[in-house]
Amino acid sequence: MSKGKSQRGRPLQIVPDQRFDCRSCGRCCRSWNITFSQADHERLSKIEWGTIFPELAGKELFVPAGEENGKPIWRFALRRHDDACWFLDEESRCRMHAHLGGEKKAIVCRAFPFSIAHTEAGAFASLRFNCPTVVAGDHGRPVSEQRKDVERLDADYAKDEHAARKLAGLTIGGGKTDLVPDGEMTVAFAPGYRLEWPDIGKIEATLDGCITRDEMSLTGRLIAATHILAAPWTRARLTVLEQANQQAVADGDRVAVGIEPELIFEVVRSDDAERRALKAPPAPTLMHRVLSRHLLRHVVSRPWSMRILEAGLARRLTARAGLFVRDLMLLAGFGSISPESFGRSVGVRAIARSVSTPVPVATASAMDETLARFVRAKLFGKFFFGPRFHRFHYVAGFNFVVLCCSLARAIARGHALAHDRLVPELQDLHEGVIAVEDAFFSSAPFAGFHGRGLQLALLDVEALARTTRFWDWRVVG
Ligand code: SF4
Repeated sequence: MSKGKSQRGRPLQIVPDQRFDCRSCGRCCRSWNITFSQADHERLSKIEWGTIFPELAGKELFVPAGEENGKPIWRFALRRHDDACWFLDEESRCRMHAHLGGEKKAIVCRAFPFSIAHTEAGAFASLRFNCPTVVAGDHGRPVSEQRKDVERLDADYAKDEHAARKLAGLTIGGGKTDLVPDGEMTVAFAPGYRLEWPDIGKIEATLDGCITRDEMSLTGRLIAATHILAAPWTRARLTVLEQANQQAVADGDRVAVGIEPELIFEVVRSDDAERRALKAPPAPTLMHRVLSRHLLRHVVSRPWSMRILEAGLARRLTARAGLFVRDLMLLAGFGSISPESFGRSVGVRAIARSVSTPVPVATASAMDETLARFVRAKLFGKFFFGPRFHRFHYVAGFNFVVLCCSLARAIARGHALAHDRLVPELQDLHEGVIAVEDAFFSSAPFAGFHGRGLQLALLDVEALARTTRFWDWRVVG
């Protein structure tokens, strides 16, 4: 690959197994601080919205949101009574979309939930998991059939000054960050260790091959994947993998799995960890506690959490953020719990019964399918490393995605209990996935967590495996 070559102009790569068409649920138009450029403001503020939609007459629809490069930026004002954008109508449809069409509304609105990461290996389009339709994964056209729209979106995004700045934050490579010094076409793979983009592609294919194998639960597959990443990926090892893949192709076998990962996978499988975890859940780690608390603090601080943690639970948790998770941990195998610390609306006995009741196999496998899609989208979309993910190294970032799967399952427990259900259903897990996407993959809230300490903790594969198995305890049984 030539040094310094522009990242643009290469064919956009589209995530293989995601589908989407907006179902107008209106979630992305509520409570979010959606900023847009001066150019979009000039265009949109010229329109007599109050004449077209009398209910908007006299309303302040756009409010200043500061400056960027000496130019003002704006955000959509939210209604007081329901925290929704003024343009959202009673049927959860966008009035701007209705009047201007999808192509002419603000570019940031048009873009959601698409995400395009620009890297030295090309641009990768995928979907975000804080849209319920994306999480459900069963509605709309495959993204691969929307290529022309996504390409146009990508081009228009780059033309808009404010949007382009956001995009720059998602650009990995080309000298824009300290992780990828100018002119270097390598990726910060682990502390003190860099890999070239083509090699990253091979490792991703290997990880993907591991995640899509379904002869063991997703937890086992993810733990195997973290072990794969813990292997020292030297050039010589990659050559062995390459040759193994060529052989696998010649034999008509899978393309993605080579000799080394195969061995690791076998070791993890023969470890029989899941069955042992059912008998004696491992101790949660410090990493687990810190991340869980952060997640809960984020969840309970959001207005939409009131929907998730109904029955007054959210209000109580706001004052006691983090105790929810701690108490679930206690109940999961460490004995005592104070009922007050969890909230009266969910009985402690119900919690105890919940964590000791296995999820039915069909639900567990549907949950695995959702989480596997989540992990694959993060993998394909280059979501978890570099500037896009708070400057994590590749291995730590991937391991964090694995941890997110466990956190999503924990939230699913809480969501089910808040709705008087002992055992979580698929819908509960969907809420858990949305919660982790919001908390950790939508920028600001996670900003305090980019320290080296966490990165190093996430490189501790054994601790990660314990944590992951902990949350999946009695879920995978
Ligand atoms: S959250 Fe997704 S489905 Fe709902 S309105 Fe937004 S883009 Fe459409």
